[in-house]
Amino acid sequence: MVFDLDLIKKTYSEMPAKVDAARKALGRPLTLAEKILYSHLWKGVEPKDFERGKAYVDFAPDRVAMQDATAQMALLQFDTTGRKKVAVPSTVHCDHLIVAKTEGKQDLVKAVTDNEEVYNFLSSISNKYGIGFWKPGAGIIHQVVLENYAFPGGMMIGTDSHTVNAGGLGMIAIGVGGADACDVMAGLSWELLMPKLIGVKLTGKLNGWTAPKDVILKVAGILTVKGGTNAIVEYFGEGATSMSCTGKGTICNMGAEIGATTSTFGYDESMARYLKATGRAEVADAADAIKEYLTGDAEVYANPEKYFDKVIEINLSELEPHLNGPFTPDLATPISQMKEMAAKNGWPTKVEVGLIGSCTNSSYEDISRAVSLAKQVAEKGLKTKAEFTITPGSELVRYTIERDGYLSTFEKIGATVFANACGPCIGMWDRMGAEKQERNTIVHSFNRNFAKRADGNPNTLAFVASPELVTALAIAGDLTFNPVTDTLTNEKGEQVKLDPPSGDELPVKGFAVEDAGYQAPAEDGSGVVIDVKADSKRLQLLYSFAPWEGTDLKGLKLLIKAKGKCTTDHISMAGPWLKFRGHLDNISNNMLIGAVNFFNEKTDNVKNQLTGEYGPVPATQRAYKAAGVGSIVVGDENYGEGSSREHAAMEPRHLGVRVVLVKSFARIHETNLKKQGMLALTFANKEDYDKILEDDSIDVIGLTSFTPGQPLQLVLNHKDGSSETITVNHSYNAQQIEWFKAGGALNVIRAEFAK
Ligand code: SF4
Repeated sequence: MVFDLDLIKKTYSEMPAKVDAARKALGRPLTLAEKILYSHLWKGVEPKDFERGKAYVDFAPDRVAMQDATAQMALLQFDTTGRKKVAVPSTVHCDHLIVAKTEGKQDLVKAVTDNEEVYNFLSSISNKYGIGFWKPGAGIIHQVVLENYAFPGGMMIGTDSHTVNAGGLGMIAIGVGGADACDVMAGLSWELLMPKLIGVKLTGKLNGWTAPKDVILKVAGILTVKGGTNAIVEYFGEGATSMSCTGKGTICNMGAEIGATTSTFGYDESMARYLKATGRAEVADAADAIKEYLTGDAEVYANPEKYFDKVIEINLSELEPHLNGPFTPDLATPISQMKEMAAKNGWPTKVEVGLIGSCTNSSYEDISRAVSLAKQVAEKGLKTKAEFTITPGSELVRYTIERDGYLSTFEKIGATVFANACGPCIGMWDRMGAEKQERNTIVHSFNRNFAKRADGNPNTLAFVASPELVTALAIAGDLTFNPVTDTLTNEKGEQVKLDPPSGDELPVKGFAVEDAGYQAPAEDGSGVVIDVKADSKRLQLLYSFAPWEGTDLKGLKLLIKAKGKCTTDHISMAGPWLKFRGHLDNISNNMLIGAVNFFNEKTDNVKNQLTGEYGPVPATQRAYKAAGVGSIVVGDENYGEGSSREHAAMEPRHLGVRVVLVKSFARIHETNLKKQGMLALTFANKEDYDKILEDDSIDVIGLTSFTPGQPLQLVLNHKDGSSETITVNHSYNAQQIEWFKAGGALNVIRAEFAK
């Protein structure tokens, strides 16, 4: 047993009284999200009607999960806090560093060799500080968490934006930066902006070709990539209870693509079935005993408009399969309209590769439904037109689907089974020919489809769909194939139609695994030595950032004015850079290399104001740093959307950027900038973005009286000698202003422990 039953029982024993107290304090029935939030208030925080979207509240999460790319920096930070052991149960999962190239076993062997020092570091530091360690090949963090640790009514944070996946098992699970994980593991409270509440009422029942994935693809189309910002999405209704637990996980997983703080579902029979199937009958029994506390109050669901900030209703019986993309997950196209959309936009309709799996869609149910289509290839005399790959989410799933013959069915249609890891989903896909940068189309069942995300080719158009639809489109080799209505020509020249997918929610013979890949930590880790070599290119122990100098910031050079979408992938690219996630100086060589310079529309090409020459962003910033000159980065809307990686905040901090000024921020990135002691500012008037010129030197005025809710002033000193003053807003509270003054949150923590 790897999960902590005592912790769950303790949470459940305290939950009813805490929820009742919150209901009384608020004087109204509660949503599920509120029940979980209020039952996890930090000690001493009294329940009251915290203003949603405005109030910062301290919480006490039950667990922390970290993936290997982000765990390196989180644990390097934890190592500097002076703690002997993590304060809450925590786990590390080795999933992001495995390159998908040939097939799972060979790729895994190579990854273990290539990443040996990182895995040794993570294994040793986990062992030392009481952290559960999931070895490479064990699976993808969110699938492993769902199978082992998630529990209804729990609260978890994880150093990955798709931590939200655990909402499928009724949790409030939130993606954070490594600095937040470090706080919680160190035994501190965790602060969150009290989220707004979005209710999604699901009526009807999924049928035919539609899958849970289509629910979130539809929601993404309605809410867009920003629509869930600072909100928890709570799903309810007969449609919710009729879906599998893992299907709910898929929906919650992609809540990250609408910017939601997290998403969740009330405890129901599907969750109990999943808990029992994954060896956690005791958790299901404990949840059953307090089940009315693990779902929203009946009155809330009867009159949702009264209790949620926004309500969406989707009739699952009428929902169509969707394909979202390319380049953004909110461009939602029902399959029946794809012919028209592809023609209108000139999208290549030949599907080159279909990829299923990832943390989003690799449940037993997903695979069994996809396999029901793969079987029809032989039965109906078809030939699969596109390449086809599978990345299982965990060894538990992989072993079970192999035992049940599903992998051999996929192999018969020419499929490649990659390692149980992120692989193509995070750009760790050594795709043959990608370097030619040809325009081409792929379809996958992952969650993200930003440019270059899967194979590094900016001309790959990636469309997101359910695993069932991906499989059908791979068989057809055609993006515009609508399996609901269209036929395919088989090898004999006959017209055949694919039968709708079918499958099992859970394995009839139960799950099985030989070696799940778990390493339990030492009981007493005090003698364990953390493995970091002094000359390592991949790991570097951290230094403390300098505190604020106590004055306004004058003469900051404009490093880049980024145009349009600037995600954390643009700020700190993944793919080949993942290997430097534990080495701050080396990974800083990717800083903002994906951002488009407003002034010349190029990436990684900005003007060095000291020399007048154009060059790469990191080199230009290093030149400013060497000259002792601070700088400022300017961005557009939803700056920093995407992942939770704090590298996107630490790199500019390390290289001497002082301010990031944007039209609007994605939540996690804004918090990460604050944690690292940066100034994260927004234009009071968004049109002032146009006033920023390429040769500007900028002063930040008002820092000596930096106060919550009080805007600051920026003086833009233009090259022609003129200047103008603009107002900028910030969302720092008193604690966050302390972080800024101390040079970062870690400096504050360390000082507290040193007392
Ligand atoms: Fe891995 Fe992709 Fe899931 Fe992120 S979204 S955890 S990269 S599989």
